[in-house]
Amino acid sequence: MGADVARVRDVTFRRSAVAATLWILASIAVLLSGLPETVRASFSGGAIAVTAVLAATSCLFAARRSRGRRKRAWALLAAAGYVGFSGNAVALLTGTTQTGDLAYLGALLIGALALLSFPSSPVRRTHVARMLVDGVVVGGSVLFIAAVAVFPGREMVGAWLSYVIALVLPLVDAVLATLAVLLITRSSRSDFVPLLLVGLSFVLYALADLSYAALGVAAFSLGSPVDLGWITGYAMGGLAARHPGAVGAASEPRRDESSPVVATVLTFSLFIVAAAVGVANVAGAPWSPVATALWIVILLAVAARQTILVVHNERLRRELEGRVRARTSELRTMTQSTELVLASVADGIYGVDRAGKVTFVNPATARVLGYSPADLVGHDAHETFHAPGPDGVPFPADGCYITEAVRDGVTTSAEEDRYRRSDGKDIPVEVTASSLLDGAVVIGAVVVFRDMTQRREVDRLKNAFVSVISHELRTPLTSIRGSLGLLSGGAAGELDPQAARMVTIALESSERLTRLINDMLDVEWMEAGVSPIEPIDHSARDLVDAAIDQVRGMAAPEGVSVRLGEVTGHVHADADRMVQTFINLLGNAVKFSPRGSEVVVSARPSGAFVEFRVADRGRGIPPDRLEAIFGRFEQVDTTDAREKGGTGLGLAISRSIVERHGGRIWATSTLGEGSTFHVTVPRAETANHIAARATETDLIDVSVTEKEME
Ligand code: ADP
Repeated sequence: MGADVARVRDVTFRRSAVAATLWILASIAVLLSGLPETVRASFSGGAIAVTAVLAATSCLFAARRSRGRRKRAWALLAAAGYVGFSGNAVALLTGTTQTGDLAYLGALLIGALALLSFPSSPVRRTHVARMLVDGVVVGGSVLFIAAVAVFPGREMVGAWLSYVIALVLPLVDAVLATLAVLLITRSSRSDFVPLLLVGLSFVLYALADLSYAALGVAAFSLGSPVDLGWITGYAMGGLAARHPGAVGAASEPRRDESSPVVATVLTFSLFIVAAAVGVANVAGAPWSPVATALWIVILLAVAARQTILVVHNERLRRELEGRVRARTSELRTMTQSTELVLASVADGIYGVDRAGKVTFVNPATARVLGYSPADLVGHDAHETFHAPGPDGVPFPADGCYITEAVRDGVTTSAEEDRYRRSDGKDIPVEVTASSLLDGAVVIGAVVVFRDMTQRREVDRLKNAFVSVISHELRTPLTSIRGSLGLLSGGAAGELDPQAARMVTIALESSERLTRLINDMLDVEWMEAGVSPIEPIDHSARDLVDAAIDQVRGMAAPEGVSVRLGEVTGHVHADADRMVQTFINLLGNAVKFSPRGSEVVVSARPSGAFVEFRVADRGRGIPPDRLEAIFGRFEQVDTTDAREKGGTGLGLAISRSIVERHGGRIWATSTLGEGSTFHVTVPRAETANHIAARATETDLIDVSVTEKEME
């Protein structure tokens, strides 16, 4: 709502309030005046009719301005006003009070629907019922107090229907007034004034209707101050519809559920007061039939209220029980499936608390370690089954991955760990320990381990096989190669050209076979960790020079030059292994470079590493093969092995070597333009004891001329 619209509505409301006040004051003046009774009666009839129509129309406008439930509420209130007015008009014209009373009753019921349509009203059926019954108890109690204390001893005269209606009308008024008050406790602030005015209007109707009932339906005639109740009531209703809050404030949040305590306290306080007043008066004068009937209605309402509450609570309880049952069975299913998973996995899984004591073990853990779960739970995991090192000295608990996971909150793995079984036998295990987190707090660790006994056995057999091959194949191959070399060198006399060609082919093949076997053995040894890495500090230049020296012989016939680019930095590495790697990279670069091109080697420190680069201007490597070529027997082209004499194992060996140093190796390439192989190796921690070498770029041409070869 714009600020202007709000101001206009505020002004309209104030003006209406002033008009209503003047109108009420005028009515008071007339009805309390000494004017003849007929004049007063005509005035009253007219005043009630006019105020009712004005109020109903005002509600209609409010309905037009509002939306949703609020629109319905105001429209129903307008309808209630029109129905009430029409009934009264008919009654006045025909002289039958019952028609008027019935119409009035209808109007009140529509009013009740209107109140229940307000956005602040409850949506659940039990709440609506409880509110209505509360209304009956509160309104009934007020009326009862009035009937006993204010109008004692009055007898009703007239037809029974009038009697009943006369009793029901103030009761319904009171219920509506109470409803309005109860709604206020749940409504947003903007609804406060409109609802208060609506409540007030029903209170005023209730007073007038009660007087009407108490004074006697038959003896009643318009023109007394009692009529002020209706006039003022209608005026308040009309005024409520003109209040700016009647259309609601869009931004205001609704209060969802008011505390039922307020309603309960209000209801029972009034009930108790009514009971006290009733008891106090019963001795003085007997209750009027109105009072008695009211009391019965109140008691019934109280009973109904309690019944509704009990039924509602019972339903709630059942609902809750149902939910708890469903949740419990869900949890049970979840727990069962988790247990099933834990019981079915072949890997051992166990948990420890912050102190390192075992909290749970899965069946595989108990089976592999040869304990029963009860033997393990509650015991210190590290002390119970973490086997000591090969020298028999127990691992310090401080360095155990369990301690690290708990203390540092990190996930750690140990590929070559050993656990001690209950029978004293050690088994090789691969372990991963992760910290167990409750939110951000580490409450322990969970450890997964795999029994590697079988895998190690397979490895052992493979190694044995490899060493047999190395011995059994390499020895005869060496003598074949030697013999073929002698033959081709003319040791057995000059061979005829055809025989010489065949011997050369056989010699080349045997050399390739030797290379292949050597490479295979190398891969196996590297991966089995047979050939240990022994790193010491070296200057990068030394390693590169050593490698270039060895490639020189092979680069010359290919017409490829190897140029030394900028080489700086010191590494902590196993020289033999690194030189082997660079020879392989340089060999490949030379092999795959066209005649007349150059291969450039460079190295420079980068972070904690020195990065070496071997760049060629060869055919390049397709992007999808850049990673694959580091696998065993992987080649870009299947003819590479034959034509270039490769085995497809060189890069696999290189990667193994580099990774065992803690570095990385990878390739970048542009097809047709060349490739660059990158190798990172840890920097030397203490580089100062290595003689500083000149680092300026110099060019070493290793393309050897025919003359040098000789
Ligand atoms: P090989 O003994 O076959 O050279 P490698 O493992 O050293 O075995 O290399 C695998 C494959 O990677 C080679 O066969 C070749 O297809 C490709 N490759 C390696 N280096 C280069 C390079 N510098 N340029 C182009 N291709 C290369």
